[in-house]
Amino acid sequence: MATQPVTIGVDIGGTNLRAAVIDRQGTMVDTEQLPTPSSVGALEKALTMVVDTLRQRHPQITAVGLAVAGFITSDQTTVRFAPHLPWRNAEITTRLSKLWDIPVVLEHDANSAAWGEYILGAAQNTRNTVLFALGTGIGGAVIIDGKIYRGAYGVAPEFGHLTVVPGGRACPCGKRGCLERYCSGSALPLTAQDYIALGAHPESKFSQEFANKPEEITGRVVVRMAREGDPLALAVLKDMATWLGKGLSLVQDVFDPELIVLSGGVARDADLLIDRAEAVLHHSVVGAGHRPISRVVSGELGSEAGMIGVAMLAHERANSDVEDK
Ligand SMILES: [Zn+2]
Repeated sequence: MATQPVTIGVDIGGTNLRAAVIDRQGTMVDTEQLPTPSSVGALEKALTMVVDTLRQRHPQITAVGLAVAGFITSDQTTVRFAPHLPWRNAEITTRLSKLWDIPVVLEHDANSAAWGEYILGAAQNTRNTVLFALGTGIGGAVIIDGKIYRGAYGVAPEFGHLTVVPGGRACPCGKRGCLERYCSGSALPLTAQDYIALGAHPESKFSQEFANKPEEITGRVVVRMAREGDPLALAVLKDMATWLGKGLSLVQDVFDPELIVLSGGVARDADLLIDRAEAVLHHSVVGAGHRPISRVVSGELGSEAGMIGVAMLAHERANSDVEDK
């Protein structure tokens, strides 16, 4: 039997490098994981180790895809800036491709996840799709007419930093009132602290437990208490769902997609948010009641969407290299 061509997809996160060997059908045939080092030299050494290890086990690997949370130049050769990684204006594809002697594809992590969902997951058979990745912050990606939209300078789209409350909560990006300060895993404790300070739901067990230590509230605690039916935690989730709906309505107004895929760590708990978010989306869009509105669904590839998507982009690169020869 002829050996199937496979590629490596690496999701380079702030905490871990997660790599998978993936065939043309998107099946994961092997994986490797290492903690993400904090210097450029150590990071590239760790990547080389992961790639070498997987290539020893799968000599038929034809290309490597790297998914990075950061700004990627639109020619996809350079990481301009990545808040949780040491690369600064680093032209990495030529260097790593030469070092490893294999084609290397670089893509933004949300774009990679969107591509994974588009080729193999929730967004199959669509043409205009938005990925809305809810995690600690908000990541975003847009597919227009079947192509990833990258903007002129590789910065678009930053849904999380749309100003929704002028003068509102301070954001690490330097602005105030950004959407992700109200709608993300890291927004949940902020809203819970506000509600406790206001004396909302004094009967709530959650409120009583954390009244004297609000700084210990985490997003996970809020979700767990909401699942237990705590009224304060449910109110916090309702607030987040409202902001999610408003955020999605802005996305709908700008891009008019047929599908919005919710991805990222918080998407696991989308069942707590999605009904209210959709209701808010439906009445917040311009022309509400007189236009079709996109469906909102959870991603199907989970936290592996980025690895799978960038591995599929690597397959495309490997194929086009063969055709060029
Ligand atoms: Zn911001």
